[in-house]
Amino acid sequence: MSETAKIRNIPMWTISKRFKVSYAHRVFNQDLLDSGMTPKCVSLHGHDSTIVYRINASSLHNDMVLDYTLLKKKFFDQNGIFHAEELDHKLLLSTEDPKVKDILLMTGVSSDEADELIHKAKENEYYQFSRNGMRVILFPFVLTAENLSRFLCHQFLKLVNVLAEKYGIKNIDSVEVCFNETDDTEACYSEFEVVVVDD
Ligand SMILES: [Zn+2]
Repeated sequence: MSETAKIRNIPMWTISKRFKVSYAHRVFNQDLLDSGMTPKCVSLHGHDSTIVYRINASSLHNDMVLDYTLLKKKFFDQNGIFHAEELDHKLLLSTEDPKVKDILLMTGVSSDEADELIHKAKENEYYQFSRNGMRVILFPFVLTAENLSRFLCHQFLKLVNVLAEKYGIKNIDSVEVCFNETDDTEACYSEFEVVVVDD
């Protein structure tokens, strides 16, 4: 280091909030390579999962990274943003699942309705409906913890944009969503803005 170089310490706070959800899904493309083990996630099954929303900020707004109250589902709902707790007690289905239509038919929808629901989920980021007491969310991706954490993080980033534009809260540097499918497993997704310089 040259004698004129200066070190600048950048502060960083991290806050997090956890949400517990129970849901059913299957991972139709689990293959476990050539381990010889049975890919049991191919079968419909359920999880009691914990989802963690994490926020990093190098400065505070009103002496807080963000008021935890603003991470409640109610606030996401007010702004039309999907919150992790929306997954609770739902059947999660992937439009990519070769059996998706068969499973949809079991909920009581007609064949035409099933096609329409799959189309709507593919056109949008997700689509949810209820029928005969069954509450279903269709997603246009395979339902792994990795893909769910990315989806929830993208929704969370929408909230950050709303907070910045509507309320002038601009101290949030990055957010991360970790999806703990079980007590022993965790998949995290975060996204950062980087400046790309062309050669
Ligand atoms: Zn599972």
